[in-house]
Amino acid sequence: MKKLISTVIRYVPRKYLQVLSPVALRVLGFFYAGKGVQCPVCNKEYKKFLPYGRGSSARENALCPSCQTLERHRLIWLYLKEKTDFFTKNLRVLHIAPESCFITPFSKQKNLTYTTADLESPLATVKMDIQKMPFEDNSFDVVLCNHVLEHIPDDYKALSEMYRVLSPNGWAILQVPFFDLNLQKTFQDDTIISPQERFKAYGQEDHVRMYGQDYPVRIASVGFEVEENLFVKELPKENIAKYALPASEILYVARKN
Ligand SMILES: [Zn+2]
Repeated sequence: MKKLISTVIRYVPRKYLQVLSPVALRVLGFFYAGKGVQCPVCNKEYKKFLPYGRGSSARENALCPSCQTLERHRLIWLYLKEKTDFFTKNLRVLHIAPESCFITPFSKQKNLTYTTADLESPLATVKMDIQKMPFEDNSFDVVLCNHVLEHIPDDYKALSEMYRVLSPNGWAILQVPFFDLNLQKTFQDDTIISPQERFKAYGQEDHVRMYGQDYPVRIASVGFEVEENLFVKELPKENIAKYALPASEILYVARKN
């Protein structure tokens, strides 16, 4: 099962995967019926979550068969619920490269004016390049942009654009993957172009850099105040197990003052 899922993820382009997979996953979910974990986004309970990931990095107990959350999505959801006014205040939200698990629940929130945007995803309503956004300055109160910047040729430009379209006091959640936790300085070599070379250098065929511990400095360089939030450490152990959360993922919360 783990091997089958990781093969599909590797060879089927993500934009098709996002459209085709929900039905297949719900069928798989039938075999995971039970009470062991619960997804805080769709509230469904399972024996455990589905495995997810590529090759050797595939992991057990990760993907919600019902709404497709992964560990990090469940963490972000709980953070938004418990630590922000995301679900109560009237907010203009820009969701870049929107994760399907969030689109339905966020669209239903009466308090949100919710805009989804992406270069090519069929799930997004606005087609745009994050390095040159078609929005006025100060257009949004919240930007959500997770696992996007590692694909963007000029991430400084993308960060500057997010800063520009956020209004003062606006904030963003800007997660990126860290394949090498010991890497100090972000590694990018623009002569590395082929998917094979990129996989070798950055850990994935379509990444253009590997982020290091200087990631928050990079965010701050365009004007943001950055908080490295370890919200997951505040949660009781039983909740971390119940929701299958990442044990130590830092949330990068960027604020425009
Ligand atoms: Zn779910």
